Amino acid sequence: MKINKLIAHSSNFTKGRKQKIQFLVIHYTANNGDLAKSNCNYFKSPNRNASAHYFVDEKEVWQSVEDNDIAWHCGTSGKYYHSKCRNDNAIGIELCSEKDSKGNYYFTNETINNAVGLVKMLMEKYNIPIENIVRHYDVTHKNCPAPFVNNNTAWDNFKDSLMEGYMFVERNYSYNGKVKSFNVINENGENFIKVRDLADLLNKNISYDSNTKITNLDDIFNNVKVEVGNTKTTVQAINSGGFNFVKVRDLADVLGFETGYNETNNSIFFKLKKSIVDKLKIFKK
Ligand SMILES: [Zn+2]
Repeated sequence: MKINKLIAHSSNFTKGRKQKIQFLVIHYTANNGDLAKSNCNYFKSPNRNASAHYFVDEKEVWQSVEDNDIAWHCGTSGKYYHSKCRNDNAIGIELCSEKDSKGNYYFTNETINNAVGLVKMLMEKYNIPIENIVRHYDVTHKNCPAPFVNNNTAWDNFKDSLMEGYMFVERNYSYNGKVKSFNVINENGENFIKVRDLADLLNKNISYDSNTKITNLDDIFNNVKVEVGNTKTTVQAINSGGFNFVKVRDLADVLGFETGYNETNNSIFFKLKKSIVDKLKIFKK
């Protein structure tokens, strides 16, 4: 991972550190579509009274304070809610944020991906365990990073991504007007969904034959067999935590559905393929 560097003005951080680096503190910039480099530029000016070690956006990672200097990102004159994590023993990482039409902050998948890469690299470098990856909120109760404070699932997904090597994201799916939210694995822009989640959305019964290792989904017309875990697989699957995750569009295709994006409820919808609807009409006659 390439780390660009633009070190902040010396009035914005404390030179040197006596304590070992033990914590990584995640923040958000509370801006709308800002860039990592611009944040570094901002801290080039004196007397900003704050700082962070790294800024992450969709494309780049920029360092503003050296790891062995103390940045001012999670200090407070008020109460600390974390018994150990302080500026003195932590590295502060700021994620550039976006704002949706309702004014809610969010991170793009690309920014999260880059942050996962940076955090994993720092965890290895300083031997930091997963429980020492914290939000600014966990230290001072500040609403930071808002996308990970207002949505605990998103924060859990972020930490799962650090442990599993997969990036988990929350996605809405809809079928026949029913909208459901599922955690899916995002790999190179493709979403992999838990088979049983998709079966649930599409009102399918799911059963597993341990002898043949075949997962059966009862379809409208016949039993569609989705084989996973052997060379005969018809859909690609990822096994994580004992669950099979398959590419959403692969499974939809096998089941006779096409997918699309519904902007009204911000969901990926499933619709029976036209050829199947036609068959259904003929069948009804
Ligand atoms: Zn913060």
